[in-house]
Formats: sequence, C-alpha cells, structure tokens
Amino acid sequence: MVIATSSLLYLNSPISRPLNNSRSREFLRSPSGFRVRTRTRTKPASVSITRAEAGMQKEDIVIVGAGIAGLATAVSLHRLGIRSVVLEQAESLRTGGTSLTLFKNGWRVLDAIGVGSDLRSQFVEIQGMVVKAEDGRELRSFKFKDEDQSQEVRAVERRVLLETLADQLPPKAITFSSKLAKIEAVKNETLLELMDGTRLLAKIVIGCDGIRSLVAKWMGFSEPKYVGHCAFRGLAFYPDGQPYEPRVNYIYGRGLRAGYVPVSSTKVYWFICYNSQSPGPKITDPVLLKRQAKELLRNWPAELLNIVDITPDETVIKTPLVDRWLWPVASPPASSGRVVLVGDAWHPMTPNLGQGACCALEDAVVLASKLASAIKSGPTSVDDAFQEYGSERWPRIFPLTIRANLVGSLLQWDNPVVCSARDNVIVPKLVNIGSMLEHTNFDCEPLIVKA
Ligand SMILES: Cc1cc2nc3c(=O)[nH]c(=O)nc-3n(C[C@H](O)[C@H](O)[C@H](O)COP(=O)(O)OP(=O)(O)OC[C@H]3O[C@@H](n4cnc5c(N)ncnc54)[C@H](O)[C@@H]3O)c2cc1C
Repeated sequence: MVIATSSLLYLNSPISRPLNNSRSREFLRSPSGFRVRTRTRTKPASVSITRAEAGMQKEDIVIVGAGIAGLATAVSLHRLGIRSVVLEQAESLRTGGTSLTLFKNGWRVLDAIGVGSDLRSQFVEIQGMVVKAEDGRELRSFKFKDEDQSQEVRAVERRVLLETLADQLPPKAITFSSKLAKIEAVKNETLLELMDGTRLLAKIVIGCDGIRSLVAKWMGFSEPKYVGHCAFRGLAFYPDGQPYEPRVNYIYGRGLRAGYVPVSSTKVYWFICYNSQSPGPKITDPVLLKRQAKELLRNWPAELLNIVDITPDETVIKTPLVDRWLWPVASPPASSGRVVLVGDAWHPMTPNLGQGACCALEDAVVLASKLASAIKSGPTSVDDAFQEYGSERWPRIFPLTIRANLVGSLLQWDNPVVCSARDNVIVPKLVNIGSMLEHTNFDCEPLIVKA
C-alpha cells in the first residue's frame, strides 16, 4: 500500500489564483500546527507536512472510496485547485462489472468536469425506448428527443468511466488496498484507521464508500433496506459488431422484467430484475450466475436469451437491490462537522430510474464548488458549506429515492390482473413519457470558486 506522505496543494484550473487570502491560510493552518506551503503554479507543488505523532499521516482532504462519487469529487476539487487523497479498499479500480445508463444530468456533470467528450466518443447515443410484454408484443415505443430535445442517454461501461475519471487526477492521488476500518473524531479533525494499521488525521473527510458505507454508519445512518428484488446484469461482447438499434429494449413480465441496450459498436448491456423474498446467498461463480439468469428467461422470446448466452461469464453479476429513505428529522444530516457523504454512501437508491450514479455525479460537483469556495474565499466556513450542500441536495435525492422505489414495485408486480392493466392500459395509454424523465433536468453550474 502506498500512502502519500506529503501534503499537496495546487492550482491548475483556468480560474486558478493564489491561495493567499486569509481565509485559506486559516483553513490550511490547523490548530495542531499542520502547515502547508502554497504556490501559484500549474503543476502540483510538493510540500512537507508536520507530523503530530510518529506514524500518523496528516492530510487536508481525504475521500474514502474510488467509485464514481469519490473520483468525480476528487476530479471536481482538482479542477478547482484543491488537492485530495482518495483511499480505495480494492487493489485497483473496479475493472469488472457492466454498464450504467447515464441521462442528461449525468452528462452535464461529466462536461463540467471535462470528461464528457472523451466518453461520448466511446459510447453510442441511445435514441429511444421500446417496451414489450413477455409474449413479445410491443406496448409502447418513443424517442427521447421527441420528448425533450436536450435529452442525452448513453450506456457507459463502468470500468471506462472510472478509468477516465482517475486519469484526470495527479499520480498517487488514489491509494489502493486502503480499506477504512475505523473512524474517530479528534478535536476538529478526524482520525481514520485503515485495515493495515495505517492512521491518518484528516481535516476533512468525504465519505464516498458506497451502500455499505462505514462513514455513514459512524454518522448514525441505518443500514440500507432490501426492497424485495434482485438484479442480474451482464455485458455481451460481439467481436464482429453488435446488431442492435441504439435503443433501450424493455420487457415486462410478472414479477420479472428485463432489458438490453447497446453500449458501443461491440457491446450490449443487459439486466434482469426478479422478485425474491430474500437476497439469497452471495454467489460469485459466474457460470452459476449465468445459468440462474438464463433460467429466469426460459419461457421468454429468444432474443434476450441469445444475448445472455454470448455474454462472457466474468461480466455477469447479481445484486440485491436496496435503498434508504432519508426521512426529515429521523435521518441524520449529510454532514457532521467536517465529515460529509456523497453518492450511495448517503442516498442508496434502487436503479429503476437509472439515477444513482447520475446523482452521485451531481453531488460531487455541488459539494466540490461549495467546499472550494469555503476554503478559498467564501464567506462560509467548511462546516456551513457542508450544511448548504446537504440542504440543497436533500430535496433532490429524497423524492428520487422514493420514486425509484415505487416505480420498481409497480414494475415488479406479479398479480396477473394488475400486470394485464399495466400492459394494456397504463403503459400504452397513461404513462406520460415527458414527465417521466423530468427528473433528469439538472442545472449544472460551471465549476468555479464563488467569492
Ligand atoms: C443493478 C444496478 C443498476 C444500476 N444502474 C444504474 C444506471 O443505469 N444509472 C445510474 O445512474 N446508476 C445506476 N446504478 C447505481 C450506481 O451503480 C450507483 O449509484 C453508483 O455506483 C454509486 O457510486 P458510489 O461511488 O457512490 O458508490 P460505489 O460505486 O459503490 O463506490 C464505492 C467505492 O468505495 C469503496 N469502499 C467501500 N468501502 C470502503 C472502505 N471501508 N474503505 C475504502 N474504500 C471503500 C468501494 O470499493 C468502491 O470502490 C445501478 C445500480 C445497480 C445495483
């Protein structure tokens, strides 16, 4: 494991300016005498730090988790000239897994942090969606741009998204094999203890450690709740080119739904959602997972079965779906002092609206802007900036979490009468596609430090 032993502060954004105002000096010089030399330059400037205790690292900003939330937050801060250190429990970035559908809100953020064009060039734009019943009958089809000219939908490989974000960071910004084991408040700072015994004292901790977040648990959040269905996912590979139109293909069954969507010229992402009273045992054998996935589709039209068949075993995964509703008053706030949550660590939601990662991206830019402004020049303190972040983001993510859950329950119905009403009336005649995607509207402000 490599932990950066120096504290870095750099300015590299087009709007960069020296961190020499009194506010940033005050933040960067902690009561414990943690000093950082600052310079205006375009490349990171290495500086030494004062250690309070032998064997203890001191860092300004530690991000726990190198998933989408952690990396997007680190890149956003980097663009704003603020250094952070990212701790990831795994030995490397998550290279397995499948894809995520990103809607226009996700793309606005990726543009703001400077990686939109690079990703666009690798993934096909999805034009629309067709919904079918399990007997193959088409229930509804529509084009995204007919409903909203500004809509943009692409299924992005998680591996490529993570690698693209990580590539924006300076070398050694991410330390792998660094699993957070314990967290403790120490005066104004936070002591982080890793599994291997490494101890870090951080001025600011950003918990991006996903649905089983240790940081969230420490802040008093309850465990996410299993919602009664699981998902199989896979990424089919066609070395000679995949044959499908650029649209989401959705099939609704009874207590079972599935779909597939082209990702690139050679890859097609698929998913199957099925009801199950319990998440069942954790299965890691991909051959068994694939067999179970195919079993669910045995009476369905062959198209999806063929896609699952040609999927490389190692890309097939099964995930129990969970969420956590952030009830006002009953749930802890997004931050506690100088510890704050981003993405699934704060608001795990079911994937029924394809918004978990999109919202994690939104969180990242909002938080980074507020934090950078507080550190550099803003009238607010870091604690206030975190509270503002929580108040601004909560009305966005709480209703979305509930809506995603309700949509999932509706689509997972297995009652034949209800399914018949869904297939013959609700989906073909009643669903208003435009308003169904309104939640993808998000004004992503440019990443700048506000005075
Ligand atoms: C079936 C399914 C389909 C989905 N489809 C979509 C979709 O189409 N569109 C969409 O927008 N979203 C989708 N999502 C949601 C999306 O995957 C998540 O919202 C997103 O991954 C959240 O990112 P994150 O960085 O918050 O968490 P994660 O991706 O879980 O990353 C957390 C990181 O923290 C690390 N970590 C955890 N604990 C520790 C520790 N103690 N110490 C150090 N590191 C730690 C982990 O190893 C991981 O790298 C889907 C989810 C599921 C389950």
